[in-house]
Amino acid sequence: MSLQIFPVKVGINTCYLIRHEGVILIDAGGPNKIKTFQRAFDKFSIRPDEIKLIVLTHGDVDHVGSAADLKELTGARIAIHKNDKDLFEKSLHNFPAGVTKWGKFMHVILNPVLKNVLPRISGGKADIILDENDYPLSDFGVQGKIIHTPGHTSGSISVLLDSGDAFVGCMAHNNFPFRLKPGLPIFADDIEGVKQSWKRLLKYDIKTIYPGHGNPFPAEVMRRELGE
Ligand SMILES: [Zn+2]
Ligand SMILES: [Zn+2]
Repeated sequence: MSLQIFPVKVGINTCYLIRHEGVILIDAGGPNKIKTFQRAFDKFSIRPDEIKLIVLTHGDVDHVGSAADLKELTGARIAIHKNDKDLFEKSLHNFPAGVTKWGKFMHVILNPVLKNVLPRISGGKADIILDENDYPLSDFGVQGKIIHTPGHTSGSISVLLDSGDAFVGCMAHNNFPFRLKPGLPIFADDIEGVKQSWKRLLKYDIKTIYPGHGNPFPAEVMRRELGE
C-alpha cells in the first residue's frame, strides 16, 4: 500500500493519521474529542483496531487530552518522551510561555481556559517511553523514526518519515489563532532549544512539515526562517 497521510482537525489542533503497511496516529487532541476521531476514522475508512501506535509529540493537554480514550477504543500503544510522560500520566498542567508579543497575549487569554479543562481528563498509561535515541517505526509498518526535538517542551519529539514528511507538533505553528503564516512556535519553554532542534532536523531530507496547529507547508519555509 502506498503511503497515505490524513490530517484530522481536532479543535485548534491538527492530528495526523499515517497509513502505510500499518496505521499510526500522531497526537490525540484535547479532552473529550473521541467522537471527532471516530468520524475521521470512518471518513478515511480506517478501523480503530488497525491503529497500533499513538505518538504524542509532547505532553500539553491539547495534544494528549483524548489519548487514554483513544487507547481504549483502538488498543494502540502510546509513545511519549520520558520528560513529558508525567504531564500525560498525571494530568499535570503545562503551558509553555509566550515567546512573541502575540504569544504572550494569547498565553494570558488561554492559560485559564487550559487550566480549567485539565481536571476533566484522566491521565492514561504510556507504553513506550522515548529517550534521546531515535526510535524506529518499522515494527508498526511505517518507514520512519521518532526523533527527540526539545524546545517547546523538554520532551517534544518529531516523527520523520523516509518519504520526507516531518510531523513536528509545536516545533512550528501555522494558521490562526497562532500565526497567520507558518513558522516558529509562539509558545516555547526554550525557544533557543527549538531553533537548535530545527537545525538538527533540517539536516535530514525533509520536504513537507506537518505542524500540530494548522496546515502542512514546505520545509523551505523553515530553512529560510532558520537561515539554513
Ligand atoms: Zn504545546
Ligand atoms: Zn498545542
